[in-house]
Amino acid sequence: MFSRAELKEIISISAKDGYFVSLYLNVDPMFNKKGDYIVHFKNMIKEIAESLNPAVYKTVKGDIEKIESYVLTNKRMFKKGLALLSSAKNSFWKEYHLNVPVKNELIIDKTPHAKPLMAILDNYQRYAILLVDKESARIFVVHLGEIVEFGEVHTPDIPGKHKKGGWFALSQNHYERHMDFHINLHLNDVVEKFDSFLSGEYIGRVVIGGSDETVSLIKGKLHKTVLDKVIAIIRMEMFAKSDEVLSRVEPVLASYEKKMEEETVETLIARAMKNENAVLGLDNVLNALQERKVMKLIFIKNYKSAGYGCRLCGFLTAHKIASCIYCKGEMECIDYIIDMAGQKAIQQGALIEVVDENKKLLNAGGIGAFLRY
Ligand SMILES: [Zn+2]
Repeated sequence: MFSRAELKEIISISAKDGYFVSLYLNVDPMFNKKGDYIVHFKNMIKEIAESLNPAVYKTVKGDIEKIESYVLTNKRMFKKGLALLSSAKNSFWKEYHLNVPVKNELIIDKTPHAKPLMAILDNYQRYAILLVDKESARIFVVHLGEIVEFGEVHTPDIPGKHKKGGWFALSQNHYERHMDFHINLHLNDVVEKFDSFLSGEYIGRVVIGGSDETVSLIKGKLHKTVLDKVIAIIRMEMFAKSDEVLSRVEPVLASYEKKMEEETVETLIARAMKNENAVLGLDNVLNALQERKVMKLIFIKNYKSAGYGCRLCGFLTAHKIASCIYCKGEMECIDYIIDMAGQKAIQQGALIEVVDENKKLLNAGGIGAFLRY
C-alpha cells in the first residue's frame, strides 16, 4: 500500500542523471485468460527499443532488463496491477502489487511516472480507522482490501493507576479531576492529529473504534467535517493486531460498499434511460468502447458472453459479421467477450466495477457503462 505523502515524494524526484523507467502492467487474471500480459509487455519493450533515441536507450537498457527479469520471475506475487519504477542511475527502485488492474504503459522520463498510482488513491475509496482509548490512539488505513497502520498518538504525562506515589495521595475527587483533565488533553491531541492526517491524505471515510465511553467522548470533539465521514462505530480492543482490525472492519466496509454499488447501478440505469452519458447492454457498451467514450465499465461478476473480434483493429461485437465494419479485417470468434471488453476499457483508461450480485443490473442486461461525454 502507498500513501499520498509517499507519492508526493516520488513525484517530486527529478533525475540528477539519466532517466526513470516506469512500467504499468494489467496482470488481472480476469482480463488475462491466457497470460496475455506477457505478450503485451514484450511488445511494449520492443516498441521502446525501436522508437527511443539510441543514446537514451543505452542509458535505460539496464533498468529495462531489471524490470523484464522481475516480470518474468515474480508472477506468483502478482495481483491485478503491477507498477515498477526504476532508475539505477538514481539508485531508485519501487514495486507495487496493486489490487486493481492498470493500463499497460512503459514510460521513459526524467521523473518517475506516478500518475496512475495517484489515480488509484482518487478513484478507489480509502478508509481511515481510528482506535482510541483514554491514553493512546492508533490510525490505520484500509485500501483495496489491505490494511496499514499509519501512526500512534500518545499524550505524555497521563497518570495511570500503575504509577506509584503522587496520585494515590490525592483525594479521590482531585484525582478524578486530574484524570479528566489529561483525558481531555489527550483526546484534543488525537482530534487534531487525526484531522490533519485525513486532510493530508484526502481520506473520505472513517470508522471509529474503542469503548462506548471513549467513542462518545471523541465524537463530541470531532469537527463536523470529520463526523460526516464516519460510516461506522465498532467496539475494538486497543491492542489488536492489524489483521484483527482488518477482519473486524471488513464486514462493515463490505456492507457500505454494497450500498454504494447499489446506488451506482441505480444511477447508471436512471441515466441510461434518460440517455445521459450512460449505456446499458452488451451492444451499446461495445459501441461506446469502439468510440473510446467509456469512463467506467460496470458488469456482473459472472456475466459471460461469446462474441467476435477483428484480428486487425480489435473491434468487438456480439454479432456474427463476415468482416470488420471498420477495417474489413477478418473476424474471429471470442469465448470471453466481457474479458476482452474489460481489457480494452482498462487500456483506454476507464475504470472497472465488477458487481457481485445485482438484480437490477442483471435485468438491465448485466453490463453497462458511464460515458465521458
Ligand atoms: Zn477491424
